[in-house]
Amino acid sequence: MDQNNPFLSPPTAARTFGFFVDGQWREGGEHFERASPGHGTPVTRTVRCSVDDLNAAVCAARNAFEDRRWSGLSGAGRGGVLLRAAEILRRRRDEIAYWEALENGKPIAQARGEIDHCIACFEVGAGAARMLHGDSFNSLGDDLFGMVLREPIGVVGLITPWNFPFLILCERVPFILASGCTMVVKPSEVTSATTLLLAEVLTEAGLPAGVYNVITGSGRVIGQALSEHPDVDMLSFTGSTAVGRSCVHAAADSNFKKLGLELGGKNPIIVFADSDLEDAADGAAFGISFNTGQCCVSSSRLIVERSVAAEFEKLLVEKMKKIRVGDPLDGATQVGAITTEAQNATILDYIARGKADGATLLTGGGAVDLGRGQYIAPTLFSGVSRDMAIARDEIFGPVLCSMHFDTVEDAIQLANDTVYGLAASVWTKNIDKALTVSRRVRAGRFWVNTIMAGGPEMPLGGFKQSGWGREAGIYGVEEYTQVKSVHVEIGKRTHWIA
Ligand code: NDP
Repeated sequence: MDQNNPFLSPPTAARTFGFFVDGQWREGGEHFERASPGHGTPVTRTVRCSVDDLNAAVCAARNAFEDRRWSGLSGAGRGGVLLRAAEILRRRRDEIAYWEALENGKPIAQARGEIDHCIACFEVGAGAARMLHGDSFNSLGDDLFGMVLREPIGVVGLITPWNFPFLILCERVPFILASGCTMVVKPSEVTSATTLLLAEVLTEAGLPAGVYNVITGSGRVIGQALSEHPDVDMLSFTGSTAVGRSCVHAAADSNFKKLGLELGGKNPIIVFADSDLEDAADGAAFGISFNTGQCCVSSSRLIVERSVAAEFEKLLVEKMKKIRVGDPLDGATQVGAITTEAQNATILDYIARGKADGATLLTGGGAVDLGRGQYIAPTLFSGVSRDMAIARDEIFGPVLCSMHFDTVEDAIQLANDTVYGLAASVWTKNIDKALTVSRRVRAGRFWVNTIMAGGPEMPLGGFKQSGWGREAGIYGVEEYTQVKSVHVEIGKRTHWIA
């Protein structure tokens, strides 16, 4: 490792982490070793926790919730901890970005930008903690007054995926904490390091013991046990639609815990002939290549007006060929490694299916050999029909499918022709088209002449099979609360028994 800057090369030996329960670091017997997908060398070792470890974590979170050590603080008190956490994250930004890039394979410059977004999440969460409030009804007559209280839902289980291990965590944790809940987090086994580092940050910020607990291990064992746990009041799950469905069954078969689900997407990017085609091409290249397309809001279906389709695809190919695919720790890299071997195989398989199904490959179309690690070139298919697998399935890789339309109605119909409804964008200089399409396409996040823009003030979540509920901002905090109606009689009761 470079002695002057430890964050420029992979570590010489894997770093070992414990897991975090009730404010204490604990050791375990069996470990999982993670190799960097960009380098192929071991970088971290995390504990394969047992279900007993999980039960201890849920018990700690339950005790911390019931004795009100966190929910009993004022909003200002909780907000103060979140603001201190933001400051500590600012100080540790490069270090956290380094472990994120190593375990996930994302470019270090992108990882640093994501940490900045995470800092903003904590700041917005701090404000939300202070602003969270209920409602009152002064309309029930002179004898009765109504109050609606917002109360924290209780113990939250949080299962996060490997594509944005820290960002997805931070789009939830500050808002869960703002509400007054306590939690047990289960990160993906392949990307657990930064979730564990957040325990250090929150402890230094003054979060009481037992409020934030982290259990590591496989989804099949620990994730499943968390989703089935009868003492967890709510589960927030982000990942595949298949596991999301299993969480619904687990909730129904255990205690009807409330669910927040952010699942897959097959997100349309609609380009009209009257758009700024250069801007739209840049947006399309970014939208499919960012995070190697391993992004639930990737714009993976290009729906372009037929009259400019050939011109637009040419522009897009020029842009995509210039994207710098490279070592995640190189500051100039724009597209890093594919996070897991399984995902790498899935993406290559879809590319092969696209070719076999008769789509026309315009650029990319295979692995990039950098001598170590697993990389795939940003790929564009044209001549794609809506029934092809590459047009219907979430590939979760840098593979864009181009389809053509003639009218606004066609564009809307194509955009909505999916079981998903996570995100969408439209590119046009015509305000009528922009507003019509924004209102008619069924998606939880929508962008006009931009893509993947936003901040933690704005809610995130999906329509249709992309999920339930919303995360982030005041909407996100409210998800982790439940409302109670309080009815107050004023004055002497009118007696039922005369
Ligand atoms: P999963 O849904 O398996 O993984 C997401 C999270 O769920 C991980 O923490 C995983 O743990 C955990 N998990 C796995 N099995 C269970 C279970 N039975 N009960 C509870 N939790 C569980 O996604 P994959 O890694 O298999 O990826 C497959 C596909 O899912 C991708 O190709 C992509 O299409 C989609 N996906 C979508 C994401 C999104 O942001 N919407 C994120 C990730 C994947 P562990 O990893 O330790 O097994």
